[in-house]
Amino acid sequence: MNEFLKTPIEFLKGVGPQRADLLRKELGIFNYQDLLEHYPFRYVDRSIFHQVKDVVYADSFVQLRGRIVQVVESGAPRNKKLIARFQDETGMIDLVWFQGGKYIKPMLNSMDEFVVFGKPRLYGNNWNIPHPEIGVYNAATAQIGLQPVYSSTEKLTSIGLHSKGIEKLISALLPQLRGKIPENIPSAIRNEFNLLTREQAMIKVHQPKGESDFKLARFRLKFEELFFLQMELLLRKHISMRKSKGFVLEEVGDLFNGFYKEHMEFDLTNAQKRVIKEIRKDLNSGHHMNRLLQGDVGSGKTLVALLTMLLAIDNGYQAALMAPTEILANQHFETISEQLKHLGVNVSLLTGSVKKKDRTVIHEGLEDGSIQILIGTHALLEDVVKFKNLGIVVIDEQHRFGVAQRAKMWKKNIVPPHVLIMTATPIPRTLAMTFYGDLDVSVIDELPPGRKPITTVHRYESHRLPVFGFLKEEIRKGRQVYIVYPLIKESETLDFNNLMDGYEAISRSFPLPEFKLSIVHGKMKPEDKEYEMQRFVSGQTQIMVATTVIEVGVNVPNASVMVIESAERFGLSQLHQLRGRVGRGAEKSYCILMTGDNLSADSLKRIETMVSTNDGFEISEVDLQLRGPGDLMGTQQSGMLDLKISDLSKDQQLVATAREHAKKILNQDPGLALPENAQLRVVMEMVLKSRPNWGKIA
Ligand code: ADP
Ligand code: MG
Repeated sequence: MNEFLKTPIEFLKGVGPQRADLLRKELGIFNYQDLLEHYPFRYVDRSIFHQVKDVVYADSFVQLRGRIVQVVESGAPRNKKLIARFQDETGMIDLVWFQGGKYIKPMLNSMDEFVVFGKPRLYGNNWNIPHPEIGVYNAATAQIGLQPVYSSTEKLTSIGLHSKGIEKLISALLPQLRGKIPENIPSAIRNEFNLLTREQAMIKVHQPKGESDFKLARFRLKFEELFFLQMELLLRKHISMRKSKGFVLEEVGDLFNGFYKEHMEFDLTNAQKRVIKEIRKDLNSGHHMNRLLQGDVGSGKTLVALLTMLLAIDNGYQAALMAPTEILANQHFETISEQLKHLGVNVSLLTGSVKKKDRTVIHEGLEDGSIQILIGTHALLEDVVKFKNLGIVVIDEQHRFGVAQRAKMWKKNIVPPHVLIMTATPIPRTLAMTFYGDLDVSVIDELPPGRKPITTVHRYESHRLPVFGFLKEEIRKGRQVYIVYPLIKESETLDFNNLMDGYEAISRSFPLPEFKLSIVHGKMKPEDKEYEMQRFVSGQTQIMVATTVIEVGVNVPNASVMVIESAERFGLSQLHQLRGRVGRGAEKSYCILMTGDNLSADSLKRIETMVSTNDGFEISEVDLQLRGPGDLMGTQQSGMLDLKISDLSKDQQLVATAREHAKKILNQDPGLALPENAQLRVVMEMVLKSRPNWGKIA
């Protein structure tokens, strides 16, 4: 990289040791480049004047023009506050200085017209502007145009490095930059997208002359950031593909065919067929499969998993299916054993509650290869669990597993098993492309036929009675009902009490012998949970009162109503997951979102989204807008991206474009060996070196 840009920040005029120290600590600015990449987060138009009467509506900086009518000092002598009463044709507002008033005061006595710039705030019942910038008005200064606004911190502000202070530093740096910022995007791409040069962009992003300047500059810088990111991901994928040999599973044998033709209860949906084809192609390729399967709740991912596992067995390998909860693992075990019962496949279940004695038997069966399919929970990850020849691992509901856990599964063989990761939490396209850029993605975007869309309604706590009435009607028609309570770690005890209170209230409203209840929560022993669950699955109980342990994957087709208590406390993806527990049978299904009367704007938006759509991808987009990528993907993962100017929730189009172009280049020149890509190659080599562990998701 360019030497000049790596110059330590203390060499810049205006930055002494103290400032340098705080810039490093507070903003991670170590050198010139870091400072340059501390981009403005917004701009204010200094050519526009507001009126005092409008200040109350402004929630950002205002610029006013008027005169000072009175100057007052108050407070203790050592701690004086300076107030200047400022007036324009429309009204009066106080300008306030808590410190440094004595430097300001002399200039305020002038009868001149002033320009005041600052951020109003409400103090008691009155608006004032604390610590505004102020200067005598003249036609020339009124033409300043756009001013950048930089993020700063309290500590930096206290030593004069507020937005304006940072702006000054950058202004000192910019004139030295001419000719010192190398271009890093090939000219063909620059021409195609009309991108500014890197140097132009750096100057214009900090000192735009007008709106089009900063728009062009930001576009160029975002493009660069996203383009390199996608380039990196694609290169990593390419490298790992080359490295990782995978078992070739080309045989479509008796098991697969036998099951497909004779034992499968229904035809695959077109989406399922397409995904199976994609998987088969991977398994044939000789490379290691690392595929993410996204499909809404109820879209039939389990069947795809089963068929994939049968392919492994047909080729003489073992297969494993890992689920995040015991309930789910049990359920997979039961459905899959049932589906395979005439085919003589040896299926075993391994969870935390399997007895030691039985475990040993399982361990042996895995090592001698007699167990063909192993289904289970985290218990599969233990070191003692060794396979004879594990060909495929399917991981269900992947978002519940940490990266490290998944990596462990991977290491069970010398040649890593093929990996299929399934998730019912659709990830917005942009995020999938970025966070899973090194995975291949398949999507089941079609539900099995005959499903009736679930009707979702929102009811306030105060209308509980009619809701219970409705539940009774449904139960009398032979249906079953879930009632789910929130449970979050931080308020576990409180939530637990709520659940228990709720349970009691429900028992009173739904008396025996007509109504029978099950209850499942995290504090129960696994065998008790299992027992309660089983009673509900078999229809002995009609109401399942539960915490979110029920969320993932549970399948009871006769359950047709999902009541979610305190729905405002759930995130969108969780609400969607819960709703997916119903609508699995032939009956018309309902989801009832119960909330308190006072909802925040975000809660209301979540509830409204749920009421208005059943489409998981649409919901995930709203979720991204509401929460941002950090919350959606985990801050740790997002943090690794370290995006300086792009925003994955707002720049979706650009992410896609950047990826397309990165692909195009790599298709033509996979090793970046062509002369026109030489510069790019240098950049990418550096990027790849700088974060060696990034992108290892599965
Ligand atoms: P998910 O994708 O949420 O894991 P499941 O695999 O549990 O969904 O499937 C939901 C239900 O749909 C199951 O009862 C399953 O048997 C049924 N199913 C799956 N594929 C089909 C299909 N092609 N036609 C009809 N029903 C199907
Ligand atoms: Mg599932």
